[in-house]
Amino acid sequence: MHVNPMTRRQLLRSLGILGGSSMMLGAMDVWDLKGAPAGPRPQLRGTQATTRVLILGGGITGLIAGYELGKLNYDYRILEARDWAGGLTWTVKRGAQHTEMDTGERQVCDFDGENYINAGAWRIPHTDEGILGYCKELGVPLEIFTNNSDANFFYEENSDIGPLSGRRVRLREVKADLWGATTELLTKAMDQGDIDVPLSEEDQERLVQFLVRSGYLDSDDHLYRPPTSRGSDEPYDLGALLQSGFGARARSLNQETGGPAPLFQPIGGMQEIAFGFQREIGDRLAFNAEVRSIRQTENEVRVVYRDTRTGAEREEVADYVISCLPMSILKKIDVNLSPDMAEAVQGTGHASVAKMGLQMGRRFWEEDEGIFGGHLWSRSLQLGEFSYPCYDYFADKGVLLGYYGSSLQAGLNDLPVRGRVEHVLTQASKVHPQMREEFEHAYCVWWEKVQYSEGAYGRSPSEEILARLSEPDGRLYVGCAGASDDPAWLEGGVTAAWRAVEGLHARVMRG
Ligand SMILES: Cc1cc2nc3c(=O)[nH]c(=O)nc-3n(C[C@H](O)[C@H](O)[C@H](O)COP(=O)(O)OP(=O)(O)OC[C@H]3O[C@@H](n4cnc5c(N)ncnc54)[C@H](O)[C@@H]3O)c2cc1C
Repeated sequence: MHVNPMTRRQLLRSLGILGGSSMMLGAMDVWDLKGAPAGPRPQLRGTQATTRVLILGGGITGLIAGYELGKLNYDYRILEARDWAGGLTWTVKRGAQHTEMDTGERQVCDFDGENYINAGAWRIPHTDEGILGYCKELGVPLEIFTNNSDANFFYEENSDIGPLSGRRVRLREVKADLWGATTELLTKAMDQGDIDVPLSEEDQERLVQFLVRSGYLDSDDHLYRPPTSRGSDEPYDLGALLQSGFGARARSLNQETGGPAPLFQPIGGMQEIAFGFQREIGDRLAFNAEVRSIRQTENEVRVVYRDTRTGAEREEVADYVISCLPMSILKKIDVNLSPDMAEAVQGTGHASVAKMGLQMGRRFWEEDEGIFGGHLWSRSLQLGEFSYPCYDYFADKGVLLGYYGSSLQAGLNDLPVRGRVEHVLTQASKVHPQMREEFEHAYCVWWEKVQYSEGAYGRSPSEEILARLSEPDGRLYVGCAGASDDPAWLEGGVTAAWRAVEGLHARVMRG
């Protein structure tokens, strides 16, 4: 192994060991974006056949609200503008289509067979018991979502990261070499009594044994010997690895989006959850019903909607309304909210996020590179999260998630679909030269350009705004994921839907 000019003490200090903090903690804690799970489902008692409730929006939260009100026998109806259920939980398969609002550019999905890309929600942490509970209850089969694979590549073109710039480096190499080199240093320091370890002598010996095993050290000389599973026995220089920053991904627990393994995904795509609810709800879910206005009085709520097939306007009257519309839409709708609620609604925001699916004629990442799921990590390629499908392994074709990131990155928002695809093919080819030859078809979902969404998931609202959105405004309850502390996750939708249903039911039962 190359010797780094740093002294051992400097290295240990740079790793935080001498400073008392744990190894490599901290820098990437920004990945911990996940809010709390919804907790136990509210146990609601008593039925109400005479109370009419209109639920606006048939995304996951509207569907949950309807499903739960149905169990309590409410007279409810869900008005959904599109001709399909799920909202941001949209699985794009052959035949899916949409037209971008700003340019009028239309796409029709041409993926083969059952190939798909989840344009919105795609992975469920095992801690999200609210949404997982519904999968179980609705009979939606799940499979493991591979959020990380040891074969995944890092690739940066940036001289700041040192000698590893411009090289494809595998996660397994980073893990093995970082653990190998740092445990070697630590073991040596312990062997020589260079550091005080607050353990009994016996425990210190056990600790050394642990370090030897977990760092692939030779049991006699305590030197790092790369394991065969690393792929080659030419380790990277420790200084170069530290400079690259790749080690932030080599943590003992996966702290990036979704948290520790396992994560799950419905077999066939995330929208299967919406279809599961739809089966239960039946014709109480009205499609092509675009809500135009909401007017509440002391005694009732009147909702005007447009039938998008005929253009005819209709009115529905109810005792209560639960808005599960995206906040970006509620902001624009003609609704008589109290001034403080109107201010809270206007104070919400959403993420500018986009995804692109690319069907490839051959699963070259599996066949040529042994990659089965997980991501390609690169900031300089400007692809956001580039991911490999973790369903239908070994099939003939596959759909890569070529882009998941800010819709504005690299000026992509201003390019036609063809230009966005060109960006991804050019950039991703630096790591996978097979991209161009195998590329067959792309589908882009830039959420801000998508009618009835006009934005991706909500930004976490401030405490004050969330507190206001959590209370009813007259006869109107806000139930969408954007009105939760976890808007970027389905679990946020579960929280918001349960809160609305629980509050409404308690009020109705009080009479
Ligand atoms: C790119 C992306 C990645 C994500 N990844 C994950 C993930 O991995 N895991 C996870 O758990 N969550 C993820 N999420 C978040 C998750 O998708 C959302 O939290 C959740 O789907 C929000 O559900 P909702 O019902 O509140 O809103 P929406 O899904 O937006 O539903 C709103 C509904 O209202 C309808 N509507 C709009 N206007 C009208 C109108 N005028 N009249 C009638 N109906 C109307 C819409 O058609 C839609 O069906 C992701 C989201 C995005 C965008």
